[in-house]
Amino acid sequence: MELDTHQAGFVTIIGNPNVGKSTLMNELLGERLSIITPKAQTTRHRICGILNAANFQIIYADTPGMLTPAYALQKSMMQAVYNALIDTDILLWVIEVHEKEIPLAIQQKVLASSIPTLLVINKIDLVDATQLAEIVAYWTAKIPVKEILTISALYAVNTAPILERIVAYLPEHPPYYPKDMLTDKPERFFAAEIIREQLLRNYRKEIPYSVEVAIDAFKETATIIRISAIIYVDKQSQKPILIGHRGESLKKVGIAARQALEQFLGKQVFLAQHVKVLPGWRDKEKLLARFGY
Ligand code: GDP
Ligand code: MG
Repeated sequence: MELDTHQAGFVTIIGNPNVGKSTLMNELLGERLSIITPKAQTTRHRICGILNAANFQIIYADTPGMLTPAYALQKSMMQAVYNALIDTDILLWVIEVHEKEIPLAIQQKVLASSIPTLLVINKIDLVDATQLAEIVAYWTAKIPVKEILTISALYAVNTAPILERIVAYLPEHPPYYPKDMLTDKPERFFAAEIIREQLLRNYRKEIPYSVEVAIDAFKETATIIRISAIIYVDKQSQKPILIGHRGESLKKVGIAARQALEQFLGKQVFLAQHVKVLPGWRDKEKLLARFGY
C-alpha cells in the first residue's frame, strides 16, 4: 500500500476535575501514561502521550481540571489549560453525565478559539437510555460544538469512534516525533507520577494535596533500575503522618510504587524514598518552577 499522505497533530483533553480525562487518554493510547485516582486534581502537568499509526500520529495532552484558582498551584494548572488553547489542533472537551454547568470563561474561550472541538459526554454507564437522550439534548442546545460523542471511558464504550473522529479533523502534516516514541516525557517524570499516585491512594485529608515528588537519582544497569525519590511535604506536622508508625505507611507506599514502577519500566526496580519538609511549596511560584510547573 502506498502512503502518500500523512496526518499529524496535537489533541488536548480538557474538562473539569474527575470527569475521566486521564482514563480516556489512557484508553485512546492503549497505555497507562496518566495517573488516575478517584481524587480530584490528580493530574498536575500536561502529559503528552503519542499514538502512532502507519499514516497518522496523534500527540495527546491531558490537562489538569479547570478550576477557579485558589492558590498558585491551581493558577498554574489553569494556565496549562489556556496554553493548550493556543497550540492544539483539536480539543476533546470531556464532561460527565451529571454535569450541568461549565465555567463561562472557559466556555467563551473555547468557542471563540475556532479549534475543532469534540464534546465528549463520559460515564454513560451511570445512566439509562432515556436519561442519556435528555443529556445530549441539553448540551446540543447549550454548546455549539462540531460534534457531541457519548462514551464510557472506564468500560471502553464508544471510544473507538472518538479515534475515527479525531483522525477526520487531523491536519495533513509529517510526524512531529519519531514513530517509535510514546511520550515526550522522560521516564523519571513517570517515575515521580507513579509514586505520587500511590501517595494519593494511601493517605487522606490534606496529605494528597500537600505532597510533591522529585526524582533525584535514576540509574539504570543491565539488570536493575535504582531510583531515589524525595517526597516533599508542606508542613513539619505532615512528615510523621506520611512516615507512619514505625515507618509502616511509607513502607506500604514504597512497595506498591516499586511494583507499579517495575510493571511500567519492565525491569527490576530498587526504590529509595526520602521525606523532606518544604514549607508552603504550593504557594510559592519559585518552588513550583523548580518542580517544573
Ligand atoms: P480526570 O480527573 O478527569 O483525569 O479523571 P480520571 O480519569 O482521573 O477519573 C476520575 C474517576 O472517574 C476515576 O475514579 C475513574 O475510574 C472514574 N471514571 C472515569 N471514566 C469513567 C466512566 O466512564 N464511568 C464511570 N462510572 N467512572 C469513570
Ligand atoms: Mg486526570
